[in-house]
Amino acid sequence: LGRLYGPLTAMSNVQVDVMTALVSFERVLEVLDLEPSVTDAPHAHDLRADVARRGADVELDAVGFRYPTADEVSLASLESVATLRNDPSDDTLTDVSFAVPAGHMVALVGPSGAGKTTLSQLVTRMYDPTRGAVRIAGADLRDVTLDSLRATVGVVSQEAHLFHDTIAANLRFARPEATDADLVRALRQAHVWDLVARLPEGLETVVGDRGYRLSGGERQRLAIARLLLKAPDVVVLDEATAHLDSESEAAVQAALDEALTGRTSLVIAHRLSTVRQADAIVVVDRGRVVEQGTHAELVARDGLYAELYRTQFAPTPQPADAA
Ligand code: ATP
Repeated sequence: LGRLYGPLTAMSNVQVDVMTALVSFERVLEVLDLEPSVTDAPHAHDLRADVARRGADVELDAVGFRYPTADEVSLASLESVATLRNDPSDDTLTDVSFAVPAGHMVALVGPSGAGKTTLSQLVTRMYDPTRGAVRIAGADLRDVTLDSLRATVGVVSQEAHLFHDTIAANLRFARPEATDADLVRALRQAHVWDLVARLPEGLETVVGDRGYRLSGGERQRLAIARLLLKAPDVVVLDEATAHLDSESEAAVQAALDEALTGRTSLVIAHRLSTVRQADAIVVVDRGRVVEQGTHAELVARDGLYAELYRTQFAPTPQPADAA
């Protein structure tokens, strides 16, 4: 057995090396996956000029979208794009059309997997549609520079990401030239200044995993303060589903009201207050828009929205909330 020990150890080391290589390869793919799959067109122009001229309305015009399959991703990297399959039944979004007038709020609702997140990612140009067009201020997003698009569209996602750095640095990420007074104003508007003012190091407090641990609601409000500093014309918001205690929930809601006022917004809605407040609700099911209207109109229609309203949005008693 002793004589076998050396070779066996060597073999198991080989396996470990292979496994490590596979894991790193997957990691690389994961990272690549997060990168937007789009680049500036040679003729791309600055979207802010269009927004200044006509306001930041958002329009989805007969949009179809299909995620590339793993096969296609590797084929595409080998430049064999011509061999891609094109079966419309695989489409994640089909013929999606709706508009958000400048300064209005549209709530997106629909069952899990309907395509709401995908749709919101086309507005931030994480991907380009496979059919149709997404326009802001009348400009096809494929014709504008990514820098000007990022300056125009702000995103608040469910999990607010903070860097392991000071609160001030986290906020200045949105606007490097902001003064301390600007930061305080944004924190006040986002209903989180009271907390920051109480911390011994105030704006210079290091937050993140290894720093001061903020609660979920506090992190969201800091993310909203960051959005307010960036002051984008369009906001894409994925409302949190995670349960916040009611005080935190009210503060987040007040901060969001502040952030959305006067801006064009597309909200993946999970709260009754949001759908009631929206100028229009777009109901998505299996990648298609199946209903559009206000809360009252759609409840009266008694279709999918009315069903979602009864099962997801209607106020329910909070079990054991006191705990
Ligand atoms: P939820 O409310 O559960 O978040 P959703 O309405 O936001 O759902 P999407 O996340 O847009 O739905 O997903 C729509 C469809 O696209 C789902 O079938 C999902 O599995 C698929 N999908 C999402 N992301 C990818 C991806 N990166 N690659 C391939 N398919 C994806």
